[in-house]
Amino acid sequence: EQFTGTLDIHRKDEIGQLAHSFQKMTERLSENDRIRKEFISDVSHDFQSPLLNIKGYADLLKNEDLSKMNRKQYAAVIQSETERLSSLTKQLLLLTSLDQLSSPLHPKSFRLDEQIKETVRKYRWFSEEKEIAVSMELDEVAFTGDPAFLEKVWENLLSNALKYTEEKSAVDIILTDGEDQVKIEVRDEGIGIAQEHLPRVFDRFYRVDVSRTSKTEGTGLGLSIVQQVVQLHQGSVYIDSEKGVGTTFTIVLPKL
Ligand code: ADP
Repeated sequence: EQFTGTLDIHRKDEIGQLAHSFQKMTERLSENDRIRKEFISDVSHDFQSPLLNIKGYADLLKNEDLSKMNRKQYAAVIQSETERLSSLTKQLLLLTSLDQLSSPLHPKSFRLDEQIKETVRKYRWFSEEKEIAVSMELDEVAFTGDPAFLEKVWENLLSNALKYTEEKSAVDIILTDGEDQVKIEVRDEGIGIAQEHLPRVFDRFYRVDVSRTSKTEGTGLGLSIVQQVVQLHQGSVYIDSEKGVGTTFTIVLPKL
């Protein structure tokens, strides 16, 4: 049979099947390409605005007639924007290391409950500042997984719970040991997430309702890191959230 240049993907034979899978591959490649381009443009944007702020305030600081108070304010902006850039870079490096083709995990056996307690301790400055009571109900669990990456999961979930919650409320962390899996729940009584945003909160750079210049610090990368680390451990993440009521993140990790 003569090849005429185009393959009919509706043909029922092997050639049709082949054409169909090439078509699918091409679609997937251009989808990857689109995601990559979007990612680069988001990253550039996220670097651009703090850099502009730093440059602008550094210029202002050169003015010799500046009052002491203004000088302090401008320096504080430069400091917080630098911190933002630094945390963005750290998160991007982490995501890149998770994207490596070979498995980036270095599994070890460690006490999951101890690690969660340590994370809560690390964020005490934040919970105390907002007078949020963090309570823990933790089974003792010796777990095999990558401790460095899993620590990021608890950090991101806890810092979100504290960030997106009014002062003087409560956050609960529950770790339940099961036969062949462990379950971790992080509950808050915070602002919640509206139904229509739920499917997108794990997307890189996605932030709900907050303009990128808003005062709530964040990069929109935290939950994509959570999802990726959990998937690498063959686990699952669930969100249960209601706007104005609160949010619960549940993570289930199989014991490998
Ligand atoms: P960010 O750096 O913005 O916190 P994340 O990827 O961690 O990025 O979260 C994505 C978005 O999901 C946040 O900007 C926020 O709008 C929403 N979100 C995450 N956790 C919570 C929570 N516990 N309560 C309410 N909204 C949340």
